[in-house]
Amino acid sequence: MNKENGLLVVVSSPSGGGKTTIIKQVIKLHPEYCYSISMTTRKMRPGEVNGRDYIFVSEKEFLNAVEHENLIEYEKVHGCYYGTPLNKLIELLDQNKVVFLDLDVYGALRLKKKFADRAVLIFLKPPDEKALVERLVKRSTETDEQIKKRLQRMPEEIKLAERFDHIIINNELEETVLKVNKLVEQEKSKLSFLEVK
Ligand code: 5GP
Repeated sequence: MNKENGLLVVVSSPSGGGKTTIIKQVIKLHPEYCYSISMTTRKMRPGEVNGRDYIFVSEKEFLNAVEHENLIEYEKVHGCYYGTPLNKLIELLDQNKVVFLDLDVYGALRLKKKFADRAVLIFLKPPDEKALVERLVKRSTETDEQIKKRLQRMPEEIKLAERFDHIIINNELEETVLKVNKLVEQEKSKLSFLEVK
């Protein structure tokens, strides 16, 4: 694997932190940026598309991918497996691309260990817990029990965020999109003479 090419932009936040929307908006500003589609055993939500939002698989298929070392990292989050497919990521990095990843905090820190300066970790911190609960309830894709489970993980996530490269308080969507966009520009300019696309 060539770790000298491309840039990995890993975005994490507590559940409901809006990271998927923010990543999509930054990619809209820069259509040359890419998104790493994770594999998951979670059930598809209404509106999600297999192969676009996630690669939805059974637990057996997921564990098979783990066994064959097809995932560069994986985690069990909120009772489901999530992992980053290795081959696609290598392909994008070989093309010297900026690749966004939406990962939980543990997955993010694991990638940082593997890619060092080629990976930048951004944590989107909710302005307050109330705003986050409101967002999760409004999204209505989870049951009350699932929301509770997701919120329970938040203190641990916020603690680990101290080890991230950047923490952005996610007050307002447009403002956060611009901040993430600017950070990526800065990180790109720090990298080698090869122009990251
Ligand atoms: P959701 O079910 O809300 O789409 O995602 C749940 C959590 O799994 C989020 O924190 C998301 O960032 C994380 N996640 C999604 N894909 C991956 C992945 O490939 N690896 C890891 N470690 N976490 C992931």
